[in-house]
Amino acid sequence: MADVNMHLLSSNTALNGITFKEKTCTIGANTTVTQIAENRKLQTLFPKLNQFLKLVSSEQIRNMGTLGGNFVNASPIGDMSIFFLGLNASITIIDTDKNERTLAFSAFHLDYKKYDLAANEIIKNIAFPIPSSNTFFNFEKVSKRTHLDIASVNSAGRIALQDSTITDAHFATGGVAAVPKYLAKTNAFLIGKELTIATIHAAEAILQSEISPISDVRGTKAYKRLLAKQLFFAHFISLFPTQFQLQNLGTS
Ligand SMILES: Cc1cc2nc3c(=O)[nH]c(=O)nc-3n(C[C@H](O)[C@H](O)[C@H](O)COP(=O)(O)OP(=O)(O)OC[C@H]3O[C@@H](n4cnc5c(N)ncnc54)[C@H](O)[C@@H]3O)c2cc1C
Repeated sequence: MADVNMHLLSSNTALNGITFKEKTCTIGANTTVTQIAENRKLQTLFPKLNQFLKLVSSEQIRNMGTLGGNFVNASPIGDMSIFFLGLNASITIIDTDKNERTLAFSAFHLDYKKYDLAANEIIKNIAFPIPSSNTFFNFEKVSKRTHLDIASVNSAGRIALQDSTITDAHFATGGVAAVPKYLAKTNAFLIGKELTIATIHAAEAILQSEISPISDVRGTKAYKRLLAKQLFFAHFISLFPTQFQLQNLGTS
């Protein structure tokens, strides 16, 4: 055993860097949460980036914790997993022979702590389509403490509009299933609908049908269902404050 070769992921430079090419942003798997938070171009694309990422663990963990580690840690409440599911990201995986494959990030987590990665593969990077001017993104997290805590439930989503019609939707919620949950049915329902209170309520009913939270130290399953609903509504209240408020969307 003493002669086994070590391959330190942290010294693999192919896993570093944040690049913007045409309409895609690609982030290396070794990138830390702090490096994302400090990237000027990402700050421009997501004006609330620092506010979002301050909710992720603590400064020490953000300085050390990488995207690859967060994804392979495979927690159903992994903040960066939810963040990138909400961005409609894809991941590129590379094997020891340098063969690469790319898949939708929503297909990566298979079951509790199980993911689509062979023994000779590592995650190289994650990429997402750069949001256009009619695309809106938001991240929400509820935990027992506001800071320095893992989520009870977290959620992220991007939505694109043409006038008031939803042309694209990618919402994800953590802490409500065995995996970080990409809300495929909810997202499919939203596309082509008018952005109205009735649409949001109907989508939330579908969201409830595709989640399966369990009771644990972070809350009962009923509480997590309530949080999933509140955070889904919170996206719309945060992104479209003149159209949606607590009073007209309802929060109970
Ligand atoms: C005190 C504390 C608080 C935390 N709070 C939060 C929180 O609020 N929110 C949250 O989301 N997370 C939280 N975390 C988890 C943290 O953000 C990281 O996800 C976690 O520490 C793993 O990241 P790492 O880079 O240290 O990975 P490592 O521990 O180095 O790796 C984890 C696993 O991933 C594998 N791995 C790493 N990179 C790759 C790759 N590129 N390809 C394939 N496999 C890879 C490693 O081999 C290992 O098996 C917390 C952790 C701690 C210790």
